[in-house]
Amino acid sequence: MELTQEQRLIRDTVHALASERFAPGAAAADRQYRPPLDNLKVLAGHGYTGIFLPECYGGTGLGLLETVLVVEQLARSCANTAMLYSCTDGATPRAILHIGSEPLRQRYLPAFAKAERYAAWSMSEANAGSDVGNVQTRAVGDGQHYVINGSKLWCTAAQVADVFLVLVRLTDEPGMKGVGAVLVERGTPGFSVGKHLDLLGLRGTGMAELVFQDCRVPAENLLLPAGRMKDLLQVLDADRITGNPPICLGLAQAALGHAVQHLKDRAQFGRPLAENQGLQWKLADMAMDIEAARALVYGAAQAIDQGRQSVAQVSIAKIYANEMAVRVTNQAMQLAGAYGLSEEYPFERYFRDARGMSIGYGTTEIHRNSIARELLKGSYLV
Ligand SMILES: Cc1cc2nc3c(=O)[nH]c(=O)nc-3n(C[C@H](O)[C@H](O)[C@H](O)COP(=O)(O)OP(=O)(O)OC[C@H]3O[C@@H](n4cnc5c(N)ncnc54)[C@H](O)[C@@H]3O)c2cc1C
Repeated sequence: MELTQEQRLIRDTVHALASERFAPGAAAADRQYRPPLDNLKVLAGHGYTGIFLPECYGGTGLGLLETVLVVEQLARSCANTAMLYSCTDGATPRAILHIGSEPLRQRYLPAFAKAERYAAWSMSEANAGSDVGNVQTRAVGDGQHYVINGSKLWCTAAQVADVFLVLVRLTDEPGMKGVGAVLVERGTPGFSVGKHLDLLGLRGTGMAELVFQDCRVPAENLLLPAGRMKDLLQVLDADRITGNPPICLGLAQAALGHAVQHLKDRAQFGRPLAENQGLQWKLADMAMDIEAARALVYGAAQAIDQGRQSVAQVSIAKIYANEMAVRVTNQAMQLAGAYGLSEEYPFERYFRDARGMSIGYGTTEIHRNSIARELLKGSYLV
């Protein structure tokens, strides 16, 4: 796909900014489990936060493809920054924009656009992962308030966020029918950010559990009444293409770049590793894999930008990018030998960061279910 001049400029400017300012601290953010929040302030200073929001809410009104380009370049330098960016600047602001009331938009969106406040998104629970319809956290109406009880798991950016979009059960209707969403602000009595959750990779994203004990939120914080989950899932489709696959592209490209350099720098048997044709072919395969994933991800983002939304196209791009990133980062570790497994080098971090992407934002199995469903319905034709 031919990017426009403006899109190439965004890509190159963010790459230059991220490689100069964010890459040097990327290993420390991972090792110290520290969300690199300062990087989001830097991005805000350069006008790269809230880019998909309309200008009236402080954004720049850019499309999904531009967002993909930004996230990809961030991940090339620091995946924790990319993940934080795509969570704080992703699903929650997008949901408020598309399904929130005007007072909610005015209250939150300009502050998100300036990175003065941060958002998080909380769906998952101990018994509601892929099965979102099994959400047990309950919000009960009480006059001018909702009272929330329950707990949530794996909330990215929980340690830094000010505003949380929380999926709750509002009625006893089974499955998704009884589920809606409320906005909860940090500091609301009865709400606490619980235990830090430590996964294999993306250790600097401030992931934690959330706990609600008789937490009272004003009734106007109801973002989505029960029975309208379809609207929220449609918003999520846009977020699935900007929030997760570009991180895979960035990680894989970084891993390939380091692998190329390593093969040139290291000699064995009296000649650079790069002179072995078998290893050259591995580099070529990695490049082909990245280019194929990039074409799918850019194509899916552009399709949505042009109003040709296809759930299957998003799922195909996400699955391919997720699995490609694991293949490429794993191969890069192999090419670097024992150095590839050392914390002194970035290879193992790229692999750890890539591994979780096929679970977050819907597992690759659940996305395969979506593709098959559309194929069987005849609504997606190959
Ligand atoms: C890096 C990362 C970031 C995340 N950030 C957030 C966040 O910000 N907010 C949030 O709410 N959650 C977040 N999550 C949680 C994520 O949404 C869930 O992990 C995901 O939905 C899967 O749920 P689960 O882990 O409970 O797995 P399960 O649903 O228990 O699935 C276990 C396995 O069974 C498979 N499976 C389940 N059902 C089916 C089926 N019907 N058909 C075929 N296979 C099936 C799955 O694909 C998987 O392989 C994050 C997760 C990760 C890894």
